This record gives sequence, C-alpha cells and structure tokens, in this order.
Amino acid sequence: MYDVKSMKAEEFISDEEIKETLAFADANKDNKELIEEILEKAKLEKGLTHREASVLLACEDEEVMSRVYALAEQIKKDFYGNRIVLFAPLYLSNYCVNGCVYCPYHQKNKHIARKKLTQEEIVKEVTALQDMGHKRLAIEAGEDPVNNPIEYILECIDTIYGIHHKNGAIRRVNVNIAATTVENYQKLKAAGIGTYVLFQETYNKEGYEQLHPTGPKRDYAYHTEAMDRAMEGGIDDVGLGVLFGLQMYRYEFAGILMHAEHLEAVHGVGPHTISVPRVKRADDIDPSAFDNGISDDIFAKLCALIRIAVPYTGMIISTRENQQVREKVLPLGISQISGGSRTSVGGYADPEAEEAAEVTSEQFDVSDQRTLDEVVNWLMKLGYIPSFCTACYREGRTGDRFMALCKSKQILNCCHPNALMTLKEYLEDYASEETKNIGMALIDKELDTIPNLKVRQTAYEHIHDIAEGQRDFRF
Ligand code: SAM
Repeated sequence: MYDVKSMKAEEFISDEEIKETLAFADANKDNKELIEEILEKAKLEKGLTHREASVLLACEDEEVMSRVYALAEQIKKDFYGNRIVLFAPLYLSNYCVNGCVYCPYHQKNKHIARKKLTQEEIVKEVTALQDMGHKRLAIEAGEDPVNNPIEYILECIDTIYGIHHKNGAIRRVNVNIAATTVENYQKLKAAGIGTYVLFQETYNKEGYEQLHPTGPKRDYAYHTEAMDRAMEGGIDDVGLGVLFGLQMYRYEFAGILMHAEHLEAVHGVGPHTISVPRVKRADDIDPSAFDNGISDDIFAKLCALIRIAVPYTGMIISTRENQQVREKVLPLGISQISGGSRTSVGGYADPEAEEAAEVTSEQFDVSDQRTLDEVVNWLMKLGYIPSFCTACYREGRTGDRFMALCKSKQILNCCHPNALMTLKEYLEDYASEETKNIGMALIDKELDTIPNLKVRQTAYEHIHDIAEGQRDFRF
C-alpha cells in the first residue's frame, strides 16, 4: 500500500502507485483541461505532485512543452537567478565489494587499477583542486568496509578541510558514499559535511536487484531508506539522483518525486539537490548494454519537469554530459555543475600519469573535458554568474532554513552578492587574463542589481577588499 509517510521503502516508493501514476499519465496525456489545470498550478511556483508532473512528462503536445520550458526557465530565474554553483568530484578510493553491473568499480573487474588515496596523496589532490580555484568538493568512494571504512572517510574529510594552500580552501565537502547506518551519518555530520548524496540508481525494485546482483548494495530497502537514516543522523541536506538509462525513465521520474514527497512529509524538508546522471562508457561498461538510454530531448524534458515539480531543490549536472547538452539544460533549471573534473583516483595531481597508464582507475569517461577556467569563461559568456559560494552551509542555513531562504526569494540580497564575491576571489587568484576581464565587467554590472541598498553598498566594499587581498566574505 502506498503511504508517503511510511518508513518502509516499498510503501513510500510503492510500485503499484508508480504503475497507476503511469497509467493515469497515459490516459490523460491529451486531456487539455487537466493539463491546463496542472500548468496553472505550476505557475504558482510551489511544485507539482508526482502524478501531475507525470502527466506533463507523458504529454507530447509541442505547444504545451514550449510552455513547460518557458515556465522552467522562469522558475529557475526566480529561485536561482543566473548563478551556477561550481564544484568538483574527488575520488578517494575505487575499492568496492559491490557488483553493480553499470559501474567499472564492481568487485569482479580485475583489470581496473585499484587505488586508495593516502592522506599525503589527498593533500596533493586538494592542493591541485585549490590551485584550479575550487572551493566545494563532492568526495566519492566505492563501498568497501575493509579498505574504505567510515574512519577513513572521516580522516579524509578532516585532511581536506585542513589544507590551505596560498589563498585556497575547501569550504564545503559533500559526500557521495554508500548507504550506511544512523551512527555513521551522525559521524559525517559531526565532521562538517555539506550534502550527503546517494543516487538511487533505479527506483524499480526488480530492476534494482538485477542491476545489483551481489554485495551490500543489493538490499533495495536499506539503500532506499538511507536518506531517512541520514536525516535521523542529523544531516538535513540530502541529494537524490537516479542513473538514467538503466530503467524506464518515466518510472524513475515518478519514483524520485515520490522520494522527495516522502522526505518533505516525514522530515519537513525535501531533498537539497537532485542529480541527473546518465550511464556512460567506462572501463568494462558499454552503455548500449542497457536498453533504456534516453535522448537529449527527453533528458531536457526531464530537467525542465524536475525544475517545475520541485522548485526549491537544486539540480546538478556533471561532466558526464558534454558542453552542448549542458548548454541546453542550464536554463531549464540546473543550479550546480562540476568543472575540470577527473573521475580517476589521483587524477588531479598527476593527470599525465593517469592518461599514460595502461590500466585506468577512472569511474566513467568525462564528456566535458574543459578546464575550470574554460568552464567559468563559457558560463559568463552565456550570461551566468559562476559561483563558488558555500555561505549557506557555513552560516547554518541548511535543511528547512535553506528552503525558507529559497522560498522567500531573498536570493538577490544574499546568494547574488555571495556569488559575486566568490567569483571575484576566483578572478583574483586563479583566472586567465581573458576570463578575468570578462568577470570584472560582469561583477560591475551585476552589483547594481542587488535590490537592498545596504547590502549593495557592503558588497561593493567587500569586492574592493578582495582586490586588496582579503578573502572569505559572506552574507
Ligand atoms: N559507491 C557509492 C554508492 O554505492 O552509492 C557512490 C559512489 S559512485 C562513485 C557515484 C555514482 O556514479 C553512482 O551512484 C552511480 O550512479 C554513478 N555511476 C556508476 N557507474 C557509472 C557509469 N558507467 N556512468 C555514469 N555514472 C556511473
């Protein structure tokens, strides 16, 4: 039985409810009256239910879709302005005891190079990341209780926060590690993590079990209930995601929205972010082996509808997608992207060694291989403000407090100046000459759009202070 408030995976992600939702969506995909009602509701910018959003996903009417895209762009502007937050993944270890059939880290893969960073190697990786200009990382690791126990992850987080090279600092560490216990989530919270990210991969239990034939990750309920345990452990920013391509996208879409509804209903706060990864080619992985691949157009439609359905949830796109696809979906609701990424263990400090190596430690092929400077430059030319902001988390504005900020649309007086100040830091410390010139002009123009006069004046002063060598201002 479907119960949004149940703590059992199979009840809050009820297979029956998803199937009924899909049937309802099919039956109503040309129901003009209902679609009009749903669009009117979406215009209120307070979100849609999984059923309503699924009807729009099933609808193929071009006129309706152009309205959906326009609305997604409007919501993106209203909640996130023109800022795009930047981050990089940091692969700590690719030791893994799971059997995920889409991931080259699976235990049976004997020809991938297994690596685990030592604390000294982490210093080198993070120094290289700081020298690129990164302030926010997502740490990634395979699941291996012997090689990558929670103590190792905690030690790595501690090391990362402790590294201050030149003007560099990692100010927010998000964590993408396997589902774990409440006790371990408490430890992660105490270590000062930002968002806890865990991709569901697929919400379809049967499909999930086929895709995870062996290892602890095989337990669908334990994996699906992880975010509840994380929240019980005190982590109030959690990031959802499905790996598109594995199972039917319409099923996943309804599932991820039901998951968001569940978190909101039980914990009073929905997911902080939703990621939209697609399966990529990797060491012994051929994406065409999975017959649910989605086209770029469907991918864009999914992004737009996620934006409309959960306006307060940030949306992340990684370098799994190429420049062209990223450009297409940025205006439809993406709020965070990675840049200059390496998916190999140790790939930042010594990229040449990784490229020359006969056996790779990479998780998947990166489609957007540009440097962070190129990404920053490109974003600005498209009219976005690249942001290295980490202020909310450091000011304790997590969970419902972040949502309150977002809902009050105070972002122009808060996130906007923070984005400009962190961009200014980037330009001073890391940018190429051309990027710096574009960025300086952008900051001048954008400072004038801060509505609150006092905030605007203070931001002007801080921007000046940054040019004089001071760092780390925030509202
Ligand atoms: N091991 C952790 C877990 O079990 O959730 C997470 C870390 S893993 C490095 C991060 C994510 O990469 C996975 O959750 C999966 O969605 C994604 N991934 C794995 N193989 C992939 C592939 N071939 N292409 C794209 N993404 C992939």
